[in-house]
Amino acid sequence: MSTSMPFQTIGAQWALLPDGWHQNICIELDQSGTIVGLNSLGDQQTDIVLEVTVPGMINVHSHAFQRRLLGRTQRFGKPNDDFWSWRTAMYADVDRLTPQDQLEVSSSLFQELVNHGYTTVCEFHYAHGVQDKNSAEIPFLMSEAVINASQSVGIRLLLLPVLYQLGGFGERPPSREQRSFVMETEVFLGLMDHLKEIYPDNPLVSFGYAPHSLRAVEYDAIAALLEHREQTFPDSPVHIHVSEQVREVNESVLGRGTTPIDWLFSNFSPDDKWCFIHATHATKGELKKIVQAQVTIGLCPTTEGDLGDGTFPHAEFLAAGGHLAIGSDSNVCVAPTEELRLIDYQARMASRKRNAFKLDGSVGSGTYLYQTALEGGRRASGLAVGRIEVGSKADLVELTQNHPLTTGKSPDEILNTFVYGGTKELIDRVVINGSIVNR
Ligand SMILES: [Zn+2]
Repeated sequence: MSTSMPFQTIGAQWALLPDGWHQNICIELDQSGTIVGLNSLGDQQTDIVLEVTVPGMINVHSHAFQRRLLGRTQRFGKPNDDFWSWRTAMYADVDRLTPQDQLEVSSSLFQELVNHGYTTVCEFHYAHGVQDKNSAEIPFLMSEAVINASQSVGIRLLLLPVLYQLGGFGERPPSREQRSFVMETEVFLGLMDHLKEIYPDNPLVSFGYAPHSLRAVEYDAIAALLEHREQTFPDSPVHIHVSEQVREVNESVLGRGTTPIDWLFSNFSPDDKWCFIHATHATKGELKKIVQAQVTIGLCPTTEGDLGDGTFPHAEFLAAGGHLAIGSDSNVCVAPTEELRLIDYQARMASRKRNAFKLDGSVGSGTYLYQTALEGGRRASGLAVGRIEVGSKADLVELTQNHPLTTGKSPDEILNTFVYGGTKELIDRVVINGSIVNR
């Protein structure tokens, strides 16, 4: 993490503001890394001048430890290899994970995320360690390892400690392989209390709640979690995996009499603080409820592709007023641009049209998708991020105009180049909370 003082003024030759591209902007920051002024850049000196400046991307769904599986779960022996067989391989890995491993894999992943243009990560943290069920010590050390990793890199973190208790629908007990995820409700609530006590008002660390999925928690546990949230971290985000797999949806219908998303709406009141992860197999009726309730959907296209989950109806959902965010999930891929690219290409292939989102041509589709994911990420993280505006955090990505792919292009063309054909080579500097963090 940068130990230098955060910048007080940042010049931007071009900046993507919520209402579009602006030239020669002076961004003023306060001591906490918050933007307090946006003016046109005249002759005044600024601490630094960035080229094409866009808000850093928000990664709304990551399981850091799964980065370790990359390359080891890409060999297939059985024709029906699927999500569930991948899960077995993941279980074998997580069972051995220690707090030191968690620190190492998270530090290295978070640096990669930053280098690729993510400035916030929402870590859906369920690798609590193989533990004594009556003690919060190991789970705390595992959470602390994720926090220490984020602090060493300088990435903004929303830590979502996960409540996981069951092996499947119908109150199936957890299997031995699931033991490192499992936590009694009281231990989980103690962990949340402890985190609040140890990390009050850290500018880069905040907390939210994550019932793992309806496969893994029952009504009483979710109710206890939400009640604790009201008391301890009111209005904090709630993230949950839903309807990723057809089998999961079918088991929910068998076990609970309805599909997972319908069940959530019947029993709780998901609102704009909630983020449903995947929702791949949401029905049309469920999507309507999601739009009405202003719940954000966290899509993880490269992981969903890697696991053969299925595709989400992106274009229809956005046209209906839905909110989408992106996540790297299993971290098979760490580039936000690849998530966005895949969303557009799936939509184009499904519609057999290039303008899958029926855009009016005012900005390129890369810019449109980038801004859509920023707004979704802002909602899902509950943080003042994803916008260059007064009151938001100075989390910025600088795209260079001096690369063979970008010279002579407009800022909009440069962002489109980044989304459709770019790599981190197009990123010059990444600023989080007013300090440079990429290496
Ligand atoms: Zn996940």
